[in-house]
Amino acid sequence: MWHCGLELTDLAVRKIVIAGNWKMYKTQAEAQEFLRGFAPELEKTPDDREAILCVPFTALGILSQSLHGSRVRLGAQNVHWENEGAFTGEISAPMLVEIGVSYVIVGHSERRQYFGETDATVNLRLKAAQSAGLTPILCVGETKQQRDAKETESIIFAQLAQDLVDVDQKNLIVAYEPIWAIGTGDTCEAGEANRVIGLIRSRLSNPDVSIQYGGSVKPENIDEIMAQPEIDGALVGGASLQAASFARILNYKLPN
Ligand code: PEP
Repeated sequence: MWHCGLELTDLAVRKIVIAGNWKMYKTQAEAQEFLRGFAPELEKTPDDREAILCVPFTALGILSQSLHGSRVRLGAQNVHWENEGAFTGEISAPMLVEIGVSYVIVGHSERRQYFGETDATVNLRLKAAQSAGLTPILCVGETKQQRDAKETESIIFAQLAQDLVDVDQKNLIVAYEPIWAIGTGDTCEAGEANRVIGLIRSRLSNPDVSIQYGGSVKPENIDEIMAQPEIDGALVGGASLQAASFARILNYKLPN
């Protein structure tokens, strides 16, 4: 169930986590149709992998019922920092927990870019998620402009420094998602993703935090990505929408 570091002296054990982010796709009926194709594929999935589906709020209830007893965990795509209140359009962590959600994506670049998410609000959401018993998946990453200006490291280090204030690193997943690779088909080269993820790990206080790569992950590149020693899983957008392609990603193969 674990991804071991390369060095024999390093006792760190990190969970392998493959998560699908459906974004604003799929009605309840479409979600159930997906499961009909996906469920049989899980029989081939090695025990060492945590499978998560982060679906729209409207599909959480039906999937919570359908996934009961399954190895697939349910995730949401956002969470508010208050338990309740006058926050029209928001969802709280206890509401997600009640419905059977275990994980929540926080700070996805689409929320930062289109909905004014800041590192300060990301920090509040992370802490609220953890307080309710959810495991947050924190997304960090740089734009193409920032990469071209050689600011990748400084941008990501600044995000981590602000997002993780008072956050419990024993209940956390980080996803490195270069923004220029999201939804573009333009994947970050596996060795480069491995390098950046190693740098992210060097900034964490807990070496056992699982760090995923996200950005145009697909069946054609998952094996190479997962062969990288620093990469503990994937956050998958477009390719998680079809049962066959997400199943192939979850059932990635390592070279012998
Ligand atoms: C994402 O939404 O987090 C993502 C990585 O999308 P895609 O796989 O489509 O690039």
